Amino acid sequence: MSDNQLKTLETRLKQGLSLQVWHYGRLSLPKGMHDASEADRSHELLRRARSFIDEQKIAGILIDMGFPLAVKSIKTLDPEREIVLGLTSEGEEVRASTNPLQEADLAYISPKLLIPDPKPTQTKEPVWMPPAPQEPAVVTPVAAEPAGAEATPVPPVVAVSDPIAYVPPVDVAKLASQAAPLPAAAPLQPAAVPAPPVAEALPAPIPPVAEPVIAPEPIVVTLPESKDTYAVHTSRDSHRDQPRRISIADALIQLGYGRVEAHEIMDPKLDQKLLSTGRITTAQSLQAQAVARGMEYVDIKVRPPAASVASLLDQHTCTTQRVFPYDIDRNDVFVVVTDTPNRELLIRTAVAERSGKPKVEIRVVDTPVLDQLIREQYTSGTVLRELHEDLATDTAIPEATLDDANNAVTRFVRETILEGVNKNASDIHIEPMINGLQVRLRIDGKLTANFQSPIARSGMGNIVRVVKLMAGMDVGNNRVPQDSRLVLHVAGRTINLRVSSMPQTDGNEKLVLRILKDASDIPEVENLGLNPYTLDRFLQIIRKPEGLVLVTGPTGSGKSFTLLSTLKRIAKPDRNTQTLEDPIEYRLPGVNQSQINEATGYTFEAGLRSAMRQDPDILLLGEIRDAVTARISLSMANTGHQVLSTLHTITAASAVQRLRDLGVPNYNITPSLQGVMAQRLVRKMCQHCSTAAPLPERVARILADSPVRAPKDRYRTVNSEGCQHCIKGRQGRLPIHELLVVTDTLRDRINEGAPTRELEMIARQEGMLTLAQDGYLKVAEGLIAVEDLEEALNEVAEETSSDPEAV
Ligand SMILES: [Zn+2]
Repeated sequence: MSDNQLKTLETRLKQGLSLQVWHYGRLSLPKGMHDASEADRSHELLRRARSFIDEQKIAGILIDMGFPLAVKSIKTLDPEREIVLGLTSEGEEVRASTNPLQEADLAYISPKLLIPDPKPTQTKEPVWMPPAPQEPAVVTPVAAEPAGAEATPVPPVVAVSDPIAYVPPVDVAKLASQAAPLPAAAPLQPAAVPAPPVAEALPAPIPPVAEPVIAPEPIVVTLPESKDTYAVHTSRDSHRDQPRRISIADALIQLGYGRVEAHEIMDPKLDQKLLSTGRITTAQSLQAQAVARGMEYVDIKVRPPAASVASLLDQHTCTTQRVFPYDIDRNDVFVVVTDTPNRELLIRTAVAERSGKPKVEIRVVDTPVLDQLIREQYTSGTVLRELHEDLATDTAIPEATLDDANNAVTRFVRETILEGVNKNASDIHIEPMINGLQVRLRIDGKLTANFQSPIARSGMGNIVRVVKLMAGMDVGNNRVPQDSRLVLHVAGRTINLRVSSMPQTDGNEKLVLRILKDASDIPEVENLGLNPYTLDRFLQIIRKPEGLVLVTGPTGSGKSFTLLSTLKRIAKPDRNTQTLEDPIEYRLPGVNQSQINEATGYTFEAGLRSAMRQDPDILLLGEIRDAVTARISLSMANTGHQVLSTLHTITAASAVQRLRDLGVPNYNITPSLQGVMAQRLVRKMCQHCSTAAPLPERVARILADSPVRAPKDRYRTVNSEGCQHCIKGRQGRLPIHELLVVTDTLRDRINEGAPTRELEMIARQEGMLTLAQDGYLKVAEGLIAVEDLEEALNEVAEETSSDPEAV
């Protein structure tokens, strides 16, 4: 074939068939192909054309154009489908193949018996000659008894060494010349485009062939009548997966998804590769898999599943096999949808077994669609229908209401959660025991059994299931820990819960429901109890868009309260704010909150690494507790992020030494550290039973060098007897603070390795209001009793002196 002829072939293929793929340029020869042999070049064109159009049409056009080489190329392209159509003596159509495992309802036929049905076929199955047998065998048709009245011209004996004689259907040429333009929008029928593995499609240079042999009459061939000559198998006998009908690459090209490079065409996992590199979407990958396997891709919006078949499969089968009942057609074929078409055989077997429907057809849907179908089916129509009616659309957090549901299980869950909320519990533990279920509440840090006698074992599973369903957790999976959030509407209240499950022995699960407090409970920074002087300095620090701000103090000193309040102030819609917390106690709107779970390997370190990839502007890290988290947070703070975290130190100045102890070099601390706030909680004096008194001289003296002047007329003395409003004159607690602002002087001294004591001295010289001063100021204001403050400060002193880091 000359170059001109090739050009004509290309043009004809494009124009004659009005391929809408013209603009894809996929019919032109790829780069590097121009020097190839003409056989290879025509082959390549055909291969590309074949991706789009029915092979019979190609064959027709080529024959019409008088391209014998092309005809032979098509034969070379013949896939290993080896499907033959035949008629039994009853006139029933039989489809057979040398490989019955490739699809359902194929009879087995020996390769030697495989004969093409050259009848101009109305079926969409093209009929092919058998591929060259492995051994130099002679393919002889066994046309023992022609079904038609016409005598059958015996097809020529074909030896492998011979040029392959393809016998095209008689009127294919006519058909091709009339070939209507393909409607631009119409998808090409994948089933009609069988494809060989491309490796085998690249032929050795093909010897020139004479004119194609065109049979003058339809040749009717029958299969041997006796079933003894062939064994009947179906794919259901098989334990192996079916081979693909066309390759993934071809399917992707056909769909126009991704840009498939020449060297990728043979990659059987091409879709996964394109998927992982973001060149196609999950839905596109699934569509390609569907096309490659000759399955239908379903849009459930256009055609939703038939409700009447929903009960044919149980939830377990649906979730484990990733299927959902779709329909039953007239021939009692049970149609299911899946998002894992590659598990075709397993699905077929399982579905047939569980539904009792032997005939199964598989179609493909996108993963989220399948998830939704399963979720909707197995949560509606049950006691939980009510719970999911109020599913919020604008939030990923499942919402549920427990007010209407009135069966024993939901009543129990409702009462338990309400009791936890009413008792101001922080957590509700639902635990499997040997003899049943135990519920415990954590109140003020102490875990107490809420029920003396455990709940009967029989009800246990249902309770766990209800809670997990409400929280949108995977009910079928009790082998891995799960974490979820839930907004619950119960008794007119909105309750934020974090639900976590943990596998226990015997397939049981323990649930912990953390009752999250509402963001409205978190005060504005102005209401944190900061001295106005310190508040002013603090606001300046947090206004900077980058750098590290630390809050220090012992456990229970209200550090996270301060951090969350700060976050509430600085988190803005145009900034990506991420928290890593353990535990999450408050739900903050507009903030991405992530629950650290060390037990499952989701550590602060892992969380930090993930958060870094999420392009955060503001990061709240629950605690810097080791060298790695220290290093990563500092490096984030040094690279334009605003990082908030806590450290377990007593004073503000000792935080620097703590970072050094965690292996952070001084030169990494100074560029980013903006300030450290130390804080502590002191009991608050009851304002009802305390008495106004003049400010004691001692307190006035202590406050003499304070940067803030003490009021002289606000002092009060505590009434240890107490009143109806308080316990022994105290009511709640109040924080005291000290804020170390990292100034240039301090930076220099930190860089030079100055010890904590010196850093603290410099900070005081530069105007730091110390914990003690802040406390005595609150004493002078009549907010806290001097003895309570001094007790707290003594603890600070003791801890400081026993803590070598704080020196
Ligand atoms: Zn009182």
